[in-house]
Amino acid sequence: MRIVRFASPQGMSFGVLDGDGQVAQIEGHPFGQLSFTGARFAQADVRLLSPILPSKVVCVGKNYADHIAEMKGQTGDAPSEPLLFLKPSTSVIGPGDAIRIPPRSTNVHHEAELAVVIGARGARNVSPEQAPASIFGYTIGNDVTERDMQKSDGQWTRAKGFDSFCPLGPWIETDLAGVGLDPADLAISCTVDGEPRQNGRTSQLIFGVPTLISYISRVMTLLPGDVVLTGTPAGVGPIRPGQRVECTIEGLGTLTNSVTGADAVSTAGGSR
Ligand code: ZN
Repeated sequence: MRIVRFASPQGMSFGVLDGDGQVAQIEGHPFGQLSFTGARFAQADVRLLSPILPSKVVCVGKNYADHIAEMKGQTGDAPSEPLLFLKPSTSVIGPGDAIRIPPRSTNVHHEAELAVVIGARGARNVSPEQAPASIFGYTIGNDVTERDMQKSDGQWTRAKGFDSFCPLGPWIETDLAGVGLDPADLAISCTVDGEPRQNGRTSQLIFGVPTLISYISRVMTLLPGDVVLTGTPAGVGPIRPGQRVECTIEGLGTLTNSVTGADAVSTAGGSR
């Protein structure tokens, strides 16, 4: 089932996207037994939002050998355990939204990644064998990264934490097996203005999804709706204002985002 979150004239809600391009509205959240409101919308008439609003996005660095090789000298060798970092919830944007390049920044890269969405029970101290029961579904993530700051800061909070640096979507597939696919072997790719950049398979992950969920769950409780980004294959490269980034994963569609300059909107001086 394809779960979306969307904005209609009536407000924001979750829905189920069917094969005919129709969205069936859900009451409340999409976990557990779904309750439909009966309202249906043509997908063209609504705006898809990030399919979930996570309390945190937990990311895994250096999880594809070919990406480690291309980053050699900047971020070191393959880790013996998963390398974790966080992106703030405020970095999340949806399909069609603009990635905003920070002022004076000239080295922002795309990173197409398989994104795991945690289900209703959450995940705390689960084994790899127990991890699949904690997973709600899968979507696409783009771990947008400011490469110069990643290098100069020594840790990655700023480089990966800017507003708009975590596009997610377009939908969450809750039953990949039901459509004949295995999350452990999906084609993953990224193009910029139609030009091929990244091209890999999730079978190349050094640490697979059950191992990652288990490992993270022994550090921090994963709450329902939290997102785990599993790492990016080789081919990362710069994006500039005016460009269009498309991340595609088999069975999960294409996550398309424009790129624009910094947004100067400030909260200073406004009413509280
Ligand atoms: Zn990444």
